[in-house]
Amino acid sequence: MIIGGLNKCSLIDYPGKIGAVVFTYGCNLTCPYCHNAGLVTDGGPEDRYDTDEVLDFLKSRVGRLDAVVVSGGEPCLHNDLAEFLVQVKAMGYLVKLDTNGSRPTMLKSLLEQKLVDYVAMDIKGDPAAYVPHLSKRSFEAEIRESVSAILTSGIPHEFRTTCTSPFIDEAVLETITRMIEGAELYALQEFNPKHTLNPGFFQEHEGISPDLLERFKVVAEGKVRRCVLRTT
Ligand code: SF4
Repeated sequence: MIIGGLNKCSLIDYPGKIGAVVFTYGCNLTCPYCHNAGLVTDGGPEDRYDTDEVLDFLKSRVGRLDAVVVSGGEPCLHNDLAEFLVQVKAMGYLVKLDTNGSRPTMLKSLLEQKLVDYVAMDIKGDPAAYVPHLSKRSFEAEIRESVSAILTSGIPHEFRTTCTSPFIDEAVLETITRMIEGAELYALQEFNPKHTLNPGFFQEHEGISPDLLERFKVVAEGKVRRCVLRTT
C-alpha cells in the first residue's frame, strides 16, 4: 500500500468520532474537481509515508483516537488494504472507508471480513456517463455492484455527490437516488473551485446555484432516509 498523506487528528471525517485519516496514493478516476491532485497524478505523491511508521503512530494514539479513516486516492486499488486494516482493527479502532465504488470485489471482501465499520461512497454522476471527464473507461457495472453491496451490508453508510455541472442535474439526481433508494444518508456536496485537479475545466461549466441544490435535496429526500447539504 502506498500512503501519500496522513492527517493525525480529524473531528470531521468519521461521524461523531475523533480519527486519523490515512490517504492512499493512486486513483482510477479523473474527477476535474478533485482536491487531492497530489494523490492522483502520475509521478507519485510528494510525501510518502512508511506503512510501518503509520501503524506505529496509530498504535501510539490508542485511547486518544477513536477511529481511522482510509481515504485517497482510491484505497480499494491496493491489494494489501485488508492486511493493513486487520492491523488497525487489532488496535481496537473503528474504521471508515472512503471509496469511489470502482472495485466492488475488494469492497465486498472488506465488508464480509468486517474490517470496515462505516463506508462512504462517492457517486460522481450518472454511472453510465463517467467517460470521458470522470474516467477513461466505464465503471457503471462496478458502481452499481458496490452500491448494492453497501445497501445490503447492514453497515452504517453514506453516499455522496459533488454537485457541479455538467455532472449533475435533476434527471441525473433522479437516476442516482433511484439507485441508492433506502440509503441511510445521502450528502449533496457543494463544489469548491479552489485547488482542483483540472481548474481549466470549470471555466467552461457553470456552477450549481444554492436554490437548485435545495431542489436536489427535495428530490433526494423522497428516496433516501436522510439527505444533507454540505456547503463549503
Ligand atoms: S475525487 Fe476521489 S475519485 Fe475523483 S480523482 Fe480525486 S481521489 Fe479519485
